[in-house]
Amino acid sequence: MKPRFSQRIQFSLAYALVVVLLLSLLQSWLLAPRSVEIPYSKFLELLRTDRIEKVALTEREIRGMAKPGALPAPPAQPGDRLRQWLGPEEEVRVFAVTRIPGVDEQRLVAELETHKVEFAGRIETTFWKDLLFGWVIPLGIMVAIWMFLMRRVGGGPTQALSFGRSKHKIYDRKELKTTFNDVAGVDEAKAELVEIVDFLKNPKKYQRLGGRIPKGVLVVGPPGTGKTLLARAVAGEADVPFFTLSGSEFVEMFVGVGAARVRDLFEQAKDKAPCIVFIDELDAIGKTRAGASGFVGGHDEREQTLNQLLAEMDGFDSSKGVIIMAATNRPEVLDQALLRPGRFDRQVVVDKPEVRGREAILRLHSRAVVLAPGVDLAVIAARTPGFAGADLANIVNEAALLAARKEKPSVEMADFEEAIDRVVAGLEKKSRVLSDKERDIVAHHEMGHALVATSVAHADPVHKVTIIPRGVAALGMTYQLPTEDRFLLTRSEIEDRIAVMLGGRVAEELVYGEVSTGAHNDLERATELARLMVTKYGMSERLGLATYGERAPLFLRGAGGGGERDYSDATARAIDEEVRAILDRTQDRVRGLLTAKKAVLVHAAAELKRVETLDGEPLKRLLAGES
Ligand code: ADP
Ligand code: MG
Ligand code: ZN
Repeated sequence: MKPRFSQRIQFSLAYALVVVLLLSLLQSWLLAPRSVEIPYSKFLELLRTDRIEKVALTEREIRGMAKPGALPAPPAQPGDRLRQWLGPEEEVRVFAVTRIPGVDEQRLVAELETHKVEFAGRIETTFWKDLLFGWVIPLGIMVAIWMFLMRRVGGGPTQALSFGRSKHKIYDRKELKTTFNDVAGVDEAKAELVEIVDFLKNPKKYQRLGGRIPKGVLVVGPPGTGKTLLARAVAGEADVPFFTLSGSEFVEMFVGVGAARVRDLFEQAKDKAPCIVFIDELDAIGKTRAGASGFVGGHDEREQTLNQLLAEMDGFDSSKGVIIMAATNRPEVLDQALLRPGRFDRQVVVDKPEVRGREAILRLHSRAVVLAPGVDLAVIAARTPGFAGADLANIVNEAALLAARKEKPSVEMADFEEAIDRVVAGLEKKSRVLSDKERDIVAHHEMGHALVATSVAHADPVHKVTIIPRGVAALGMTYQLPTEDRFLLTRSEIEDRIAVMLGGRVAEELVYGEVSTGAHNDLERATELARLMVTKYGMSERLGLATYGERAPLFLRGAGGGGERDYSDATARAIDEEVRAILDRTQDRVRGLLTAKKAVLVHAAAELKRVETLDGEPLKRLLAGES
């Protein structure tokens, strides 16, 4: 570890201090008048023979000056030669006598008076002793301890002792060999990050027209999709230093350590610009402050760290070429303050790869693996929807290990199959593997939603359809993009929403003649909306404008369940019937729509099953029945 600038300053200051102290000690010892220690009896003898000029009394000692020639020469001492060299030697006339405890002060004073010795009392000034014991030794000990700690830093497990100073472990300025070639299957994210690389390489180009280079880039995506890998690749491509720090490392014992680390990190980064500061697992520090729970200490610590991070982000200027990247798989828990423009104002989404992406990742990771001729990575990719890059890397590795254990010359398809089973078992249903039939159903279901959404008059346009499993319940997903923010919905808009929700189920029914459990969530939401139409929005002729709900005051609702119903049993039945009628009516409408477009539905579903995710132009064309 190269000591950083401020550390070097601290070191030299400490050394200078020690040297100055030593020199001054030496000087005082050399230049102080020399003295001899004489016994009390000798002192009395000198006093009574009038050979003493003056004395100073302290409690324990008498120091004095004898008349010339009265004292014996002092014994030789180290440093005599130096003293001779410094100046002509003078006769030693100063003496020191240790007083006998309990000696009669009165008599001594009287005797001094009779012999006309000039005398004075003196408070024992132990200046040099004080300096030695009060300063030099404690200071020396402190310096020793401090140097000991400094040595532990950087190498030791005693992280807490470093108090936020830089450490290898944290600021990993690796030889970055990672490039975009090491990342596959996440082309959209890559394309966005290419721009960041360019910012780092040619900041001038972008500032020429007055633009501001983004400060923070937040990489968002499920675990194992390659977020950390991408951040490294950006640094590797741009050929700049890479400071990395994991949010979880901020969870420290001492409040303030995290904040100190952040400060230190940015201080270093500014020295090394252009560079990338990468904060992995940002959610560990960036959790919403208001909703944060946990014991008080931990909470405080995180809040301080977060505040420091915000302050640092505001306090530097991205034109210097420091770009902050952060990764999280839980963007929804992040504090809003982090996502504000001027902080992490760019978001790059890294999704789980679709089938072609998975094949590319498998290919990438089997570069170094000896594959048997029969191995078809495309088939493996097709079998692993919902797998993230890390899972796929794992599969390749497992397969290679399995083949090696069986002492095969190369990795065969059977090994991959077994590896998939193992990895799936390890994933414990975190991502499920769908059978071919199931994927077929999901594809038709999702296309049903999408097709209805494009066919009705008031639905938000569909921008993406996927059959890659995500989250806990969804096997597929149809994303609709609202064209504007909606605060009000008209009746026909609500009806069309319900229609879109029912589209999935109706499509299954049309194609397979029976329905699956996959529409469970859709039906729940559709029913909810229909019920709101009847009971809250007054959109049903039969029940009129009245609203129906619980009688308990508003503020009591929710927490303890509902209050009493404020309507009769007859009304309750009417509501149920009306909800049912709305749903039935809408289902008929959807059935009509989809029957008319069944060919489009089947074709689009087949395409979706093949590519797993559809968006943009291809999706639009498929839904329009072209191509
Ligand atoms: P994350 O940070 O998103 O949780 P990582 O970047 O740590 O995921 O990925 C873990 C490992 O999985 C990587 O080191 C790499 O070997 C592999 N991996 C993940 N995604 C990809 C990808 N898109 N391309 C190639 N390898 C990947
Ligand atoms: Mg990571
Ligand atoms: Zn659905």
